[in-house]
Amino acid sequence: MARIILHLDMDAFFANVERVLNPSLKGKPLIVGGNPEGRGVVSSASYEARKYGVHAAMPMSRAKKLCPHAVFITPRHHCYGEFSGRIYRILKDYAPLVERASIDEFYLDLTGCDRLYGDMLGLAGKLKEVILRETGLPCTIGIASNKLVAKIASSQAKPDGLLRITPGEEALFLSRLPVKELPGIGESTHKKLGDMGIRTIGDLARFPRNLLVSSFGKAGESLWERARGMDREEVRERGRQKSFSQETTFEKDSEDPLFLKTTISHLVEEVGYRLRKHGIKAKTVTLKVRYSDFRTITRSRTGGEVDGDAEIYQIARELLKKAHTRRVRIRLLGICLSNLTPAVAQKQLFEDERERRKSSLYRSLDRIRDKFGLKLHFGSSIWHQ
Ligand SMILES: [Mg+2]
Repeated sequence: MARIILHLDMDAFFANVERVLNPSLKGKPLIVGGNPEGRGVVSSASYEARKYGVHAAMPMSRAKKLCPHAVFITPRHHCYGEFSGRIYRILKDYAPLVERASIDEFYLDLTGCDRLYGDMLGLAGKLKEVILRETGLPCTIGIASNKLVAKIASSQAKPDGLLRITPGEEALFLSRLPVKELPGIGESTHKKLGDMGIRTIGDLARFPRNLLVSSFGKAGESLWERARGMDREEVRERGRQKSFSQETTFEKDSEDPLFLKTTISHLVEEVGYRLRKHGIKAKTVTLKVRYSDFRTITRSRTGGEVDGDAEIYQIARELLKKAHTRRVRIRLLGICLSNLTPAVAQKQLFEDERERRKSSLYRSLDRIRDKFGLKLHFGSSIWHQ
């Protein structure tokens, strides 16, 4: 069965985020990068600036010569990271497997989801629309049977584009492109290929395999395969977390039941939020209790998958009842969620209306938290009782 891989690449990401944050920059050539008078390079250039030949990684001084009337901006990476996280969370609503390949680039594996979504071009169009509506940012999507071809497809469709390569037509699509469009071909390989008379990816695909191997070793084998649009790389969720935990040491040791319950509720809110942000559910909830004499115990429960604050809180309360057996004050409480599984395309697969409503409730609560920060219900004052 052919895989269905989407490569989604944000267009002029940093520059466009700056425009969302400051709409007066719309339509103006914009260059994000180091000091134009210094030795920095261009991180991102709007398409208006690219018309003048400005591109990423170019020295700022050169960019300034090419496009002196551009607006020059120093990068604000925390803002870009925030937008990137928002895009990731939108994508997690639609795809069971999302790889964040870089701050502005994502791979989605939608193999087997065509029954759910029907036409993939339709889904990709919808993703573009939702991302634009929710973040104000344009992107380009390539669809193919593997990551390599999907990535090249999106690079060919930029900006604000959409391109699908039909399975079986990968090699044909690549054949006319210059060989340097193959990701991973550096300057020296490019030069060497040029010396061998290889200009297009098609030239490379037609080149005898054994000659490529004798010139480039093992890399030659891979070059030949990739030139034919073959790629087995899997979509991987990078840095997948094993657990989410949060603990707090009290200002003053306590055995006040209301205070302990409130603290647990606060901890649950925080770990639950992080869990849902990653589009993950947990099977195991662990409570950690440290008494004033430093004796520490943990109690766990493993059961069905949970990701809602109310369910996690319920389990944590029961664990506290089991754990809090000594008549000794408590100095620390902690919650850990582990045994994690990706929440598979929740939004679409819910059979149960109640489940669906609950999930959308948490999504809107989480969006409020994204906007206004955590600790909606509990001020920091509770730590100073
Ligand atoms: Mg990009």
